[in-house]
Amino acid sequence: MDKTVTLKKSDFEAFFKALLNFGKVYAPVRVSKQSFSFKEVTKKEEIAYDAVRTILPPKKFFFTQHESLLKYDSENIEEVDPKIDPFVLFGVHPCDLAGLGIVDQIYSHEPADPYYMKRRDSALVVGFSCMPDKHCFCKAMGTDKPDKGYDIFLTALADDYFIQIKNERGAAFIHAHPELFQESVDGDRESFKQFWLDRDAAFEADFDGSNIKAVMDMEWDNEVWEDLGNRCLSCGNCTPVCPTCYCFDVYDVPSLHDGEGERIREWDSCQFVGFAKVAGPHNFRPGPVDRLKFWYRHKLHGFDDGVDIPTCVGCGRCTVSCPSGIDDIVNVVLRLQGKESILISDKDKNAEK
Ligand code: SF4
Ligand code: SF4
Repeated sequence: MDKTVTLKKSDFEAFFKALLNFGKVYAPVRVSKQSFSFKEVTKKEEIAYDAVRTILPPKKFFFTQHESLLKYDSENIEEVDPKIDPFVLFGVHPCDLAGLGIVDQIYSHEPADPYYMKRRDSALVVGFSCMPDKHCFCKAMGTDKPDKGYDIFLTALADDYFIQIKNERGAAFIHAHPELFQESVDGDRESFKQFWLDRDAAFEADFDGSNIKAVMDMEWDNEVWEDLGNRCLSCGNCTPVCPTCYCFDVYDVPSLHDGEGERIREWDSCQFVGFAKVAGPHNFRPGPVDRLKFWYRHKLHGFDDGVDIPTCVGCGRCTVSCPSGIDDIVNVVLRLQGKESILISDKDKNAEK
C-alpha cells in the first residue's frame, strides 16, 4: 500500500490554504440541482464534497477542448508553448483517476504529447473518496479503488481524512506541511478498510466484467447493436463526457492578413457522421449502428493496439447524458451476456434530468 498519514477534519481549512499556496484550486462545484462541474474555488465552502460525477471529467484540464498548437505567417512557423502555472485538482474520484491513468498512458506514449504532458506535470491531483449512486459501475470495471492518476488520495472517515501518498509530488506536498498530518495508526487503517468494504457493498449497478473482452468479440453481430444504433441521434454527447475519449480534430484557420494563420486542435467525436469520412469520398462508419459499435468496442474491449485494454471506467456519465437513454452500459453488457437487465427504466432516467 502507499505510504499513509491522516489529517484531522478540523484542520481541513489549513490544508485547503496549503493547496491554495500550491496554485489555483479546481474542485467539484454544484451548478444546478443535480449537476456538478470542476471549477476554480477560493474557499473550502464552495466545494461540493458530495458530488458523485461532474458534467465533464478531469481530462478537460489536460486535454483541453480547444487549443492553438502553432501559429504561422509567410516567413515563420512557431509552436505555441502554453504557459501553465501550477494548479491543484481536488476531489477526483477513483473512476476518474483510472480514466486519467488511461489517458496518461495514451498521451505519454512516445512521441509524447507535449501539451498534455506539460499540463499534467503542473498539476497536484488530490483524489477524494465517494459513495456510488445507481449509475456507478466502476466496481464491475475494476476501477473502484484509487490506483493511478493521483498524487495524494483522501478517504473521508468519521473525524479524519486517511491520506494515501502515491508519488514524490504527493510526498513533497505532505512533507512541506508537517504540522497538518499525523502518522496513521492501526485504528485508522481499520476504519479505512471498513469504509471501502461499506462502499463495496453499496453498488447497485454491477456485472461480471471478467469476460468482457471475449463477450465483445463473440457478440459483434448481436441484435442489441441494431436496436441501440437505430435509436442513436449521433449527437456525440457520450464522448466529451467520457473520461477516456481522447479523439481530436486538427485544422488550420488562415487569416486574411499577410499569410498568417493558426493550427487548432479541438475535441472530436467518433459518433459524428463525418468522423470516419476520408477522401474518395468514403465513410468507414456511415451509419449510427457502425459508429455505436465502434465506440462500445473501444470502451469494453479496447482497440487492437499498444493500449489494448477496455477503457470504460464505469463513471456512468454517458448513461446520464444520452438523450436517447441508450448508453446504458450495464444493461448492454447484461444483454450481451444473455442475462436479465437489472435496471433503471428510461422513464426513471428522464425523470432525473
Ligand atoms: S463509457 Fe460511459 S461509463 Fe464508461 S467511462 Fe466512458 S462515460 Fe463513463
Ligand atoms: S449520447 Fe446517445 S444519442 Fe448521442 S451519440 Fe451517444 S449514444 Fe447516440
